[in-house]
Amino acid sequence: MAEKIKCLIIGSGPAGYTAAIYASRAGLQPIMYQGGQPGGQLTTTTEVDNFPGYPKGVDGPTMMQDLENQAKRFGTDVRFGLATKVDFSSQPKKVWIDDQIELEADAVIIATGASAKWLGLEGETTFNGLGVSACAVCDGFFYRNQVVAVVGAGDTAAEEASYLANLCTEVHLIVRRNEMRASLIMQERVKNNPKIHIHWNSETEEILGDANGVTGIRIKNRENGAMEEIALTGFFVAIGHQPNTSIFKDQLDMDAQEYLITEKGSSRTNIPGVFACGDVQDSIYRQAVTAAGSGCMAALDAERWLAANHLH
Ligand code: NDP
Repeated sequence: MAEKIKCLIIGSGPAGYTAAIYASRAGLQPIMYQGGQPGGQLTTTTEVDNFPGYPKGVDGPTMMQDLENQAKRFGTDVRFGLATKVDFSSQPKKVWIDDQIELEADAVIIATGASAKWLGLEGETTFNGLGVSACAVCDGFFYRNQVVAVVGAGDTAAEEASYLANLCTEVHLIVRRNEMRASLIMQERVKNNPKIHIHWNSETEEILGDANGVTGIRIKNRENGAMEEIALTGFFVAIGHQPNTSIFKDQLDMDAQEYLITEKGSSRTNIPGVFACGDVQDSIYRQAVTAAGSGCMAALDAERWLAANHLH
């Protein structure tokens, strides 16, 4: 038999936990399923220095534990499990966890986030947090006055390279084709920055390092096969993110990149009673603090929707 829930939160990053804090304080008795990566992307980061309220910084896993404790303090029922199927065609909405547990929820808050894409190199795992990162705004500060590389050729890569050029002595941009996909204005910014060296037609063969972290990379020119080693300490992968939306296909409106579409200035999706917050609906800002802000919006929207529909 399905378990009946007033407010279900799917996902446990800053958006999910903030939604949980607000929803539990509003008496919605939220139940959260944490998903495949409890705590979300920040649990793979070492230090978070840009979240307001932590003057000395905080490491990602600690911050997520703090958020979980705060949500639990107000009564959020935090559970381990991955939402594997949804049916939003009727009210209450149906959600299945780990392909077996069936839930019926009056309101659903989706905070499933997005996952950074990786190249698939062994060094990305070995040196994650030790020189390998997928977020320049999060980690760039630790590479001040050092040499770094960015892989990718879209707007994110261009933006990250420009951001890092303000902090680092040298930025190597590794582009796999002989052109960039980024908007022209971003391309010009990168090309005109004397600190950024673009390696066209190049792919990363190996991330080099030792017990202390990354020491360099080996890249290969795809046209002539020439190999080159570059000494550096930071390796930023910026080849895009994949929003975690596959289970919502054909039910919720998405953009071309499969991010959920929310109504401007709200967290409302195209299905009444289903709300989205955090990176799953944000391809632009993708910050913990913006995710947290949108989680607050989702809880307030859910509360108002439940009240308006006499479900709360
Ligand atoms: P994109 O999908 O636009 O670009 C990904 C880039 O990574 C492409 O250049 C692609 O190369 C490259 N890439 C993919 N796989 C590999 C690989 N295995 N090895 C090497 N390179 C690889 O992702 P973005 O994150 O850059 O942007 C996502 C969306 O967000 C876009 O619509 C973008 O415009 C938007 N955005 C907007 C910003 C703004 O307006 N300020 C800032 C950031 C993002 P190739 O070109 O060869 O396929």
